[in-house]
Amino acid sequence: MAVELIGLDADDTLWHSEGHYEMTQERYSELLAPWVDKDEISAALLETERRNLKIFGYGAKGFTLSMIETAIGLTGGEVDGRRIEQIVSFGKELLDHPVELLDGVAKALEDLSTGHRLALITKGDLFHQESKIAASGLAEIFERVEIVTEKDADTYGRVLNAAGVEPTGFCMIGNSLRSDISPVLELGGAGVHVPYHVTWVMEHAEVDDAHPRLRRVESITDAPEAVRRLGAQGVNGA
Ligand SMILES: [Mg+2]
Repeated sequence: MAVELIGLDADDTLWHSEGHYEMTQERYSELLAPWVDKDEISAALLETERRNLKIFGYGAKGFTLSMIETAIGLTGGEVDGRRIEQIVSFGKELLDHPVELLDGVAKALEDLSTGHRLALITKGDLFHQESKIAASGLAEIFERVEIVTEKDADTYGRVLNAAGVEPTGFCMIGNSLRSDISPVLELGGAGVHVPYHVTWVMEHAEVDDAHPRLRRVESITDAPEAVRRLGAQGVNGA
């Protein structure tokens, strides 16, 4: 397959994100420790997030509202204004933390941009993602920046249409099997999976390791070589 367009995920692929959410959840659990234990809090918060996703969408603002809703539910309405204020400030810190690029990202993007068009494809709060892209200093290297509400086959189809690229000429690089890899393979494109050390439960998915258009690498540094190898093989992996 001739890879023409390379899509890159942003959170936990180009820069750290999930670690900040985990840290926030730790502090949130401490705040609610007088009422419930950590495991119960995690399970309840995940349930609230799952329910709210179709109302709030992905990102830190929806997460903050879900933390508040869960705190009220788990404490039977006893959680006080001071604690709610703290939860809001956790959310603000999440939105405000500096963008820290993962090791080797700038060099990998430079390599990938040689002979390929690059598109950044990310979901989350529009405002937050735009700020992070601006702060990353990486915006210039991308031909397109797509901030989408969901990363499914329909969305990728639309992005590819707008870019004028067939799925067989597309390769997506990202940390989430569910959002970055599975829908692209389904469409007929290729995927390079670069796992991050923590994955949000909702991004888990089962993908056949032996899929001919899938490569798994340890770090973004190895992505250019993986794309080269995918480009050197036939569309069906031969
Ligand atoms: Mg990601």
